[in-house]
Amino acid sequence: MTLHGLPYKPESLYYDGKVQAPSGEYPWTIEDPSTAQPLVQLIPSSTDDVDKAMDSAQKAFLDWSGTCYIERSRILRRAAEIIRKRNDELAEVETRNTGRPFSETSAVDIPSGADVLEFYANLVGSGGLNGETTRLRDDAWVYTTKEPLGVCVGIGAWNYPLQIALWKSAPCLAAGNTMIYKPSEFTPLHGAELAAIYTEAGLPPGVFNVINGNGSIGDYAVRHERTAKVSFTGQVSTGQKVASAAGLGTKYTTMELGGKSALIVCGDAPLELAVDAAMMANFYSTGQVCANGTRVFVPESRKAAFEVLLLNKMQFIRMGDPMDPATNFGPLANGIHFEKVRDYLVHGSVHDKATLLCGGSDAQPAMRTSDDPKWREGFWIDPTVFTDCHDDMKIVQEEIFGPVLCILTYKTIEEAVKRANATNFGLAAGVITSDINQAHRIVSQLQAGITWINSWGESPAEMSVGGWKLSGLGVENGQLGIEAWVQNKSTLVDMSGQIATVFAET
Ligand code: NDP
Repeated sequence: MTLHGLPYKPESLYYDGKVQAPSGEYPWTIEDPSTAQPLVQLIPSSTDDVDKAMDSAQKAFLDWSGTCYIERSRILRRAAEIIRKRNDELAEVETRNTGRPFSETSAVDIPSGADVLEFYANLVGSGGLNGETTRLRDDAWVYTTKEPLGVCVGIGAWNYPLQIALWKSAPCLAAGNTMIYKPSEFTPLHGAELAAIYTEAGLPPGVFNVINGNGSIGDYAVRHERTAKVSFTGQVSTGQKVASAAGLGTKYTTMELGGKSALIVCGDAPLELAVDAAMMANFYSTGQVCANGTRVFVPESRKAAFEVLLLNKMQFIRMGDPMDPATNFGPLANGIHFEKVRDYLVHGSVHDKATLLCGGSDAQPAMRTSDDPKWREGFWIDPTVFTDCHDDMKIVQEEIFGPVLCILTYKTIEEAVKRANATNFGLAAGVITSDINQAHRIVSQLQAGITWINSWGESPAEMSVGGWKLSGLGVENGQLGIEAWVQNKSTLVDMSGQIATVFAET
């Protein structure tokens, strides 16, 4: 127990290689979403704190950007090792803060964050930042170098906090930049913890820094004169504001935004595979995944069988104590989001008049009526399936970011693809089929940056991810991901001793 008997340390500001005392106004309380009980009270960063963190990051940039690749790589690999060793402890922090089951955070968030760190450490340590060399003629050549950008700002959403922090900081630091990272005000617990791990691994003071607070402190950091690049994960509407603010300073941006992705179940799809994919695409992380396949297109002729198997398999959704390894379905992440998702459930039944197959706004999740009163105030919601949905329904058009699966039927594949693309989002899409030629044909027509064939949701370090249309700008992860953190310089070298001048004496 720490301050005021709350379980976590009130650490929210980190620069110059150590925890600092923040000087912002209006402390706020972080709640455990499974119980709505306080976990810690934090003081936000003031603009003065952000200035100091920026100074620290700017100072550190001079040395870090000049540190050789092998040394950078070694430090980042050491950090990945520490993260792996502390897997369960870090996963517990994520579970307490987000409500997402420990069975997820311990198996996905921490390992996949460490993988991305190791991936980029290995990439830069093995020549991944080498540019190109072109021999123009015998006495001239061109070479390109990949240079870091400077101080970069990372802003995270609340659904996968530590993973987002690692997906941003790993390529950023590997490329020789320094970072000011601002987590969501709902899920800040991992921030100072990650900074301390980097310091323990040997990262020089000022290379990775953490500020905290709401959107206004994020906005201040985005507009800061020292900021060279902004990498943002969050809602489309916020992303548009952030990109506009960054654009005013002609700053580099990466935007990982929301979606309303489509999963197309083909007529020949193995039903078991289709239902498993649809469940992973809607109920994993209680539906709080940006790339969720919330519009499930099923052939008219297979709708009944699909629904029977889906309802049958939904009995394996185990809502419970998020720390119980058997639990695979937690609460929603915070009270505001809980109300938002419930409003969509009401809208789906009352206004859209979709057929409710299970769940819905009137359902009483078992945890809210639990014998143990500690769970009753948590942000629990039942997994919900609406069927007979139409493309013009609000629940089919807008991102709900909760466990709400919408079934839409179709007659032909051409129709399904056209309707799947009829959205301003373009984050992810997937197809389930036994015909691999058909799979590639469909994927080539889908307007989305992340696509899956006979799979859903896996996002390994090697796979670049990023949205099309309103869903984003640029990509994270994979070999392409490093490009977002460098600027290219081209140099032409001429050894002829002459300038091909047009101003020579005639
Ligand atoms: P928000 O857009 O509400 O917030 C994201 C972050 O931006 C928070 O840290 C927030 O601070 C900060 N912020 C808010 N306003 C500003 C501003 N004007 N300037 C700078 N920063 C600001 O997103 P959520 O946290 O609600 O996250 C859920 C969303 O994230 C969903 O739409 C989801 O699809 C998307 N997402 C996308 C992913 C992708 O890779 N494409 C991955 C994960 C989530 P604070 O909240 O503290 O006020």
